[in-house]
Amino acid sequence: MAQEDVFKKVVSHCKEYGFVFPSSEIYDGLGAVYDYGQNGVELKNNIKQYWWQSMVLMHENIVGIDSCVFMHPTIWKASGHVDAFNDPLIDNRDSKKRYRADVLIEEQIAKYEDKIEKEVAKARKRFGDAFDEAKYRETSPRVLEEQAKRDALHERYSKAMNAMDLDELRQIIIDEEIVCPISGTRNWTDVRQFNLMFKTEMGSTADGSMTIYLRPETAQGIFVNYLNVQKTGRMKIPFGIAQIGKAFRNEIVARQFIFRMREFEQMEMQFFIKPGTELDWFKQWKETRMAWHQNLGFGAENYRFHDHEKLAHYANAATDIEFKMPFGFKEVEGIHSRTDFDLSQHEKFSGKSIKYFDPELNDSYTPYVIETSIGVDRMFLSIMCHSYCEEKLENGETRVVLRLPAALAPVKLAVLPLVKKDGMPEKAREIIDDLKFHFNCQYEEKDSIGKRYRRQDAIGTPYCVTVDGDTLKDDTVTLRFRDTMEQKRVKISELRGIIEDNVTITSLLKKLK
Ligand code: ATP
Repeated sequence: MAQEDVFKKVVSHCKEYGFVFPSSEIYDGLGAVYDYGQNGVELKNNIKQYWWQSMVLMHENIVGIDSCVFMHPTIWKASGHVDAFNDPLIDNRDSKKRYRADVLIEEQIAKYEDKIEKEVAKARKRFGDAFDEAKYRETSPRVLEEQAKRDALHERYSKAMNAMDLDELRQIIIDEEIVCPISGTRNWTDVRQFNLMFKTEMGSTADGSMTIYLRPETAQGIFVNYLNVQKTGRMKIPFGIAQIGKAFRNEIVARQFIFRMREFEQMEMQFFIKPGTELDWFKQWKETRMAWHQNLGFGAENYRFHDHEKLAHYANAATDIEFKMPFGFKEVEGIHSRTDFDLSQHEKFSGKSIKYFDPELNDSYTPYVIETSIGVDRMFLSIMCHSYCEEKLENGETRVVLRLPAALAPVKLAVLPLVKKDGMPEKAREIIDDLKFHFNCQYEEKDSIGKRYRRQDAIGTPYCVTVDGDTLKDDTVTLRFRDTMEQKRVKISELRGIIEDNVTITSLLKKLK
């Protein structure tokens, strides 16, 4: 199946099976805002639990907090968001569509890279086993030509972004002959800066009210609580603070479903360390976070690091963990070495000392920070895209199955009475009443067994049991496995033992090294 088709199918599957709905749909929706449905919320909660437990339960020196969306506006001045949380924006005069100038250029760079990869793939096919890829990349005139164009553009773009030279960004778009995908023209406006924070008023009177911002990241809630947590928790460096919560950004281009939303959720952890140790910790957190992703079993080839060449002025290392989405490798998580920038800024703007007294050194310092920051919704999307599968069966039919990791699946077990009579529904409910304390169970009696299996496959339920006539005599049921569709007869008393170990978040955590 073509990758664009996979993406389209995932989007409609999410809606059809109660995972994700466009917000305010009966009023024609609201741009880049989505709601999670009955199955989506379960999957999302499981992702959050997997992250939270891997951070807070698995690390003695990481604790959690839950800070508010509303914060004192000076925080955003101190963090640099008021002055610098901008994206360069450009409009096409013919289509009246708005774009991020940096994204247009990055897409152009990706086009050159695609061309190179296509050339290499063609040669691989042509030469077969004798193909020496490294040599081909070094010598093929076509590859070299595209590579040179790509590198020149990349260098020019990096320079322009580092200097935030808006005229130069526009000139690159003109020189590269980038056209608007809607109108097909090159009738571009100037590039302007656009601040991504949403503003609102707090307070009831016009004079007494204060402009505040909806937080564009959860991290600042951690920084401003650093001292509270360190003191009350008697935390010793190195230690971390984790938080899951909503963030808001007035994104210019909101496409690609839940990949880029205006209201979304982040899972962030700030790890406070001694200055000078940051690059070791950065390396360690890169490995820890990659292991967390790969532990889901989607295949190491679907992940890669993308180290930042353009570093924010306060960062001394940064990387993204990218996942292979149907629309290419895309950032799911950022890992940043942020030095002491944030704490120092809050010290300066608040006038309060945020130093740490290190008993071993008998000295005080402002801690450095390694941050890991992942979007729940992007994680959700990557999981859905990878799990969605259309499978041809031996009888010629096609089944849609969501091969979710069992620990993340919304429903773990569906209990299905073969018919709606003869005591089978009652027996099925008895099974659920016993197992519902241990994992999420669902009762379903409508339609044929085959249809019910398909519906459970489509929402990723790893196990189904069918209650039939024999169940009433010998307390056995048919247990059916989602991925293999294998069926076997088991005792009701064995069900918990077979299922529980494979469907809990603990089972995932135990696999983490
Ligand atoms: P991008 O370059 O894609 O805009 P970013 O580098 O600005 O992302 P960060 O500020 O590092 O993102 O945020 C950390 C994480 O939060 C990202 O890796 C992503 O998973 C998530 N995230 C950021 N913006 C959005 C958004 N608009 N919608 C959904 N998730 C988001």
